[in-house]
Amino acid sequence: MDCPICGSDNIEILNSKQKTTKKKFTEEYLLKCEDCGHVYRNIISLKKPRPYRLIISEQDKSHKTTIDLSPSDNLKVGDTLLSDLGQVEVTGIEIGDRRVNKSKLEDVDTIWASSVEIPARIGFSVDLHGEVDSYKLDLERDFEIALGDIIKLDKHIVKVHVIKTQERKLTSGFAKAGVIKRVYSKPVKFNNYDYDLTRNIFKKTK
Ligand SMILES: [Zn+2]
Repeated sequence: MDCPICGSDNIEILNSKQKTTKKKFTEEYLLKCEDCGHVYRNIISLKKPRPYRLIISEQDKSHKTTIDLSPSDNLKVGDTLLSDLGQVEVTGIEIGDRRVNKSKLEDVDTIWASSVEIPARIGFSVDLHGEVDSYKLDLERDFEIALGDIIKLDKHIVKVHVIKTQERKLTSGFAKAGVIKRVYSKPVKFNNYDYDLTRNIFKKTK
């Protein structure tokens, strides 16, 4: 965008307009150099995003998905992307059978990444008629817990009766782990349950 006459980067944008066609986003600027007064046009055009194959590794599993990015953009190892499975960090870029550290996206076949989503840590209380067993659980941030869910946790099978979020106390509906502070539950005499959170226990606090 530097002035083509004097090379100054002291530029005023007089006007800009965006145009979208089938394949491209185009942004056209009318610019004025503050130093020599030259007025000129500059057109930036980006190819429209298309899906790229994205493989996300998370502990011992990997997930295959796609991510929409503009072929005009550049990508390098260490970049952070927002995928449909949360935030990821690029660990490898594959072009044909080569691995590179950076590239224009145009040429890229597959993007490798690792998950950088931090799990939500929530409190979970089991009311044992006066005594309380209290746990800290690590859950994926978008894991949903609903009032009335029957959950297996450690040696208990419990029913959720209150969910305390950052903002309020819920006695109906559901909340995502990312906003839950504590779940209050009571044991039930069932053998069946909706899901088991035993492996999500970070520690038993009491
Ligand atoms: Zn100039």
